[in-house]
Amino acid sequence: MTNKVYINGNIYAANDAKVSIFDRGYLFSDGVYELIPYFNSKPFLLEEHYSRLQKSLEMLEIENPYSKDKWLSSIETLLKSCQFENYYLYIQVTRGMPKNFDDNILREHAATKDYQTCTSMFYSKINSLKNKKISSKKAITLEDKRWMKCDIKSVSLLYNSYAKTIAYKSGAYEAILIRDGYITEGCSSNVFIIKNNIIYTSPESNLILPGVTRSFVINNIIKECGYEIRIEDFNEDDLLNADEIFVTNSTQGILPITHINNKLVKNNEDSKITQKLHETFIKKIN
Ligand code: PLP
Repeated sequence: MTNKVYINGNIYAANDAKVSIFDRGYLFSDGVYELIPYFNSKPFLLEEHYSRLQKSLEMLEIENPYSKDKWLSSIETLLKSCQFENYYLYIQVTRGMPKNFDDNILREHAATKDYQTCTSMFYSKINSLKNKKISSKKAITLEDKRWMKCDIKSVSLLYNSYAKTIAYKSGAYEAILIRDGYITEGCSSNVFIIKNNIIYTSPESNLILPGVTRSFVINNIIKECGYEIRIEDFNEDDLLNADEIFVTNSTQGILPITHINNKLVKNNEDSKITQKLHETFIKKIN
């Protein structure tokens, strides 16, 4: 593998990149991450991703290890080795290891010590959205059994990956999560439904990740296309009876959902509004 990895100021070949098993990210998922898409070698919505990283760190009271300038120069150093045109940059910051080791207590739930944060980054190739025909995917629904701080982009993704694996095994791309009868989000996406030409998506709260793509779609794409957007809770029936459904995330943009639990979504044959949003979206990326 020729990809490089950044760890705490040093660049390593991907195969040689290692962190300590005493890192609290490894022991307790005590860390946060960001994933920034690069299209045509240019970051898309970098500021928005950076500000969410900052917020996630604040919510877990992990000190941001770098100034903004240091982040930008570190990213630049890593990406010098990147040969791809379309890729994502993955950034992870964990609380790290205790600065001073106590040989008798190598693992302690409460974060009571002074820690040396661990900052790591790598990149990975993605498909260009530009020349790609819009692809449609199936989804299943599952109960949302995650903790109640889903607005933190924490590396603790066990339920997300568990649920997404169930989806994958049943031939679907995404599991759409339902808490107390209401749709929250997908395991790695935000969910929108369309009914009678009105677009709905769940409001920001502790129950969903405030997706960067979600905001961009609400504030730019839907406005520009002239559709009405209602940011309000909707339930499983609304989902199952929607005219169109789509999900959003950083690497896929806008992705129509054709089936829920193997049942065809109503107007899926043409999903006109989703198509229009998608076309408008890809014109905005570099
Ligand atoms: N919700 C969850 C749980 C996610 O993991 C993601 C992305 O990975 C999203 C929503 C979409 O966020 P974004 O548009 O910032 O990629």
